[in-house]
Amino acid sequence: MSEIKMNELNIKEDERLHVLNHSCAHLLAQAVKHLYPQAKFWVGPVITDGFYYDMDLGDAVIAEADLPLIEKEMKKCAKDGKNIIRQEISKAEALEMFKDDEYKIDLINNMDENETVISCYRQGDFVDLCRGPHVENTKQMKYFKLLKVSGAYFKGDSKNKVMQRIYGICFENQEDLDAYLLYLQDARDRDHRKIGREMEIFMLSDLVGKGLPLWLPNGYVIWRTLQNYITDKEIAHGYQHVHTPDLGSVALYKTSGHWDHYKADMFAPMVKMDEDNEDMTLKQLLEGIDKNKIDDVYVLRPMNCPHHMVIYGSKGHSYRDLPLRIAEVANDFRYEAQGAVKGIERARCFTQNDSHIFCTPEQIEAEFKGVLDLIMEVYKDFGITEYKCRLSLRDPADTEKYFPDDEMWNTAEDSLRRVMSGLDLDYFEAVGEAAFYGPKLDVLVKPAIGNEVALSTIQLDFLLPRRFELNYINEEGEKKTPVVIHRAILGSIDRFVSFLLEETKGKLPLWLAPQQFSVIPVNPNEHTDYAREVTERLQREGFRAKLDDRNEKLGYRIREAQVKKVTVQLVIGDNEVNNKTVTARRYGSQATETMDFEEFIKAMHKEVDEKQLAK
Ligand SMILES: [Zn+2]
Ligand SMILES: [Zn+2]
Repeated sequence: MSEIKMNELNIKEDERLHVLNHSCAHLLAQAVKHLYPQAKFWVGPVITDGFYYDMDLGDAVIAEADLPLIEKEMKKCAKDGKNIIRQEISKAEALEMFKDDEYKIDLINNMDENETVISCYRQGDFVDLCRGPHVENTKQMKYFKLLKVSGAYFKGDSKNKVMQRIYGICFENQEDLDAYLLYLQDARDRDHRKIGREMEIFMLSDLVGKGLPLWLPNGYVIWRTLQNYITDKEIAHGYQHVHTPDLGSVALYKTSGHWDHYKADMFAPMVKMDEDNEDMTLKQLLEGIDKNKIDDVYVLRPMNCPHHMVIYGSKGHSYRDLPLRIAEVANDFRYEAQGAVKGIERARCFTQNDSHIFCTPEQIEAEFKGVLDLIMEVYKDFGITEYKCRLSLRDPADTEKYFPDDEMWNTAEDSLRRVMSGLDLDYFEAVGEAAFYGPKLDVLVKPAIGNEVALSTIQLDFLLPRRFELNYINEEGEKKTPVVIHRAILGSIDRFVSFLLEETKGKLPLWLAPQQFSVIPVNPNEHTDYAREVTERLQREGFRAKLDDRNEKLGYRIREAQVKKVTVQLVIGDNEVNNKTVTARRYGSQATETMDFEEFIKAMHKEVDEKQLAK
């Protein structure tokens, strides 16, 4: 059994694995040089999950299918058992030694002035420029695997030529390597894009636009169920929901400060098409906006805060109105880089479960606690039991990065600390991680695959209410600025669904499953009447049920229901027809249970109402 927790693997931080993987990168280069004598090598660094090497192979292109052959050659070089020998040379010697390799020459010429001695490492017929350290002998590299090959721009610059990058990983024993490969397979099985395709949750279309997922009927069931769920929860916690436009004027985002600080992540501004502006370049448009010469210009909103600020500011408030909790399930748009978009996890259009709480400084503590309670309630419903809280505070020494108002900061940070220490929650403080406008709390979860993610967030903001000149009248009749708390519980609904799919491998609880029941008559000619009766009754009870009376083999129809991850399959044969029963089989289980149909309906209602976790 491997002792490494693969979803926490960090080879860069592990001294022994670091050296081993780096040495393995040299082994890879040696093998490639044997197979492709024209090969020239750039750099081969260690990364969190292994190593890679960037190389120029002239006209040759390495495909995934070539990797086993390279691995075989690596095994041969390793078995050869050559010592890996360090050699120190002068810059002049290095330039001479690598004179035919423009990449190494580039490296040597760009070395630090202070680096008077250059080291290279030799193993048999292969020598490479390197600082080291390395393992002593090529024999020590036994348990490695090449993982993939991709293109990479030389020096990461898209104006440069594309090199070939081969990724690999090396462990100290077979158990660890096997465990890692299993983990990779699991990651592929959990990928929400794969599950999303199998379950027909969403689709992507280049014609519609990159990074713009289309939610299909099955996905929209989940989406809508989550929206209703979180909206109901929030109403129970004293929130009021609003609905505001997906667009806002540039003036709105100038007031909020997003125009100055967030422009790079936004879509370009929009104006009405007419004769005056049809020849205008984007540059002219932007200049016109910045000089306040062009107004009536709109942007797709990257966040909803400004709209909610305007709603608050639309009328006068007394301290008695506070706290005021304004919530919205709102579309937002951000121009994510094309390489960064990923299914529904990271898209250019997504829906935030957003809210802004307007309160007095004295109410911060209670509101903060209220939001945390809501988060914990929601996590319980989804079976999320492992999370950490990160309390991000300002660095008092850094006067540049933080909004200057010591009193406000101290009050806020003290109240947040008091809340956190009064709760039975694990948390750690991160000094210098606060936002410019206030301290925040992130709830971090560790998914089954990939890195820790901040699922929920609570952020205090002293600045935005000032920018919008918001106020309330306090008990003494004085005008005061409210504090704003930005908070998101599910984060974006889209990303939350991708998280759920990857955590559960698509085995959703009954209340969330797009298709809850597949009713399958054993013999469509004989059992369909009762099967239809069962289906229609379930539908009338509010369940999502479908009848599958196609003239296909029973096994085929059951298998298809399994692939689509239908929660419960109800197989209807003679027994069920005669006794008014159903025989139920859960997704992912071989066991069946026969129940009186009325009893079954009651049990299913209970399971949905209680939001029971998947069985
Ligand atoms: Zn090296
Ligand atoms: Zn906000």
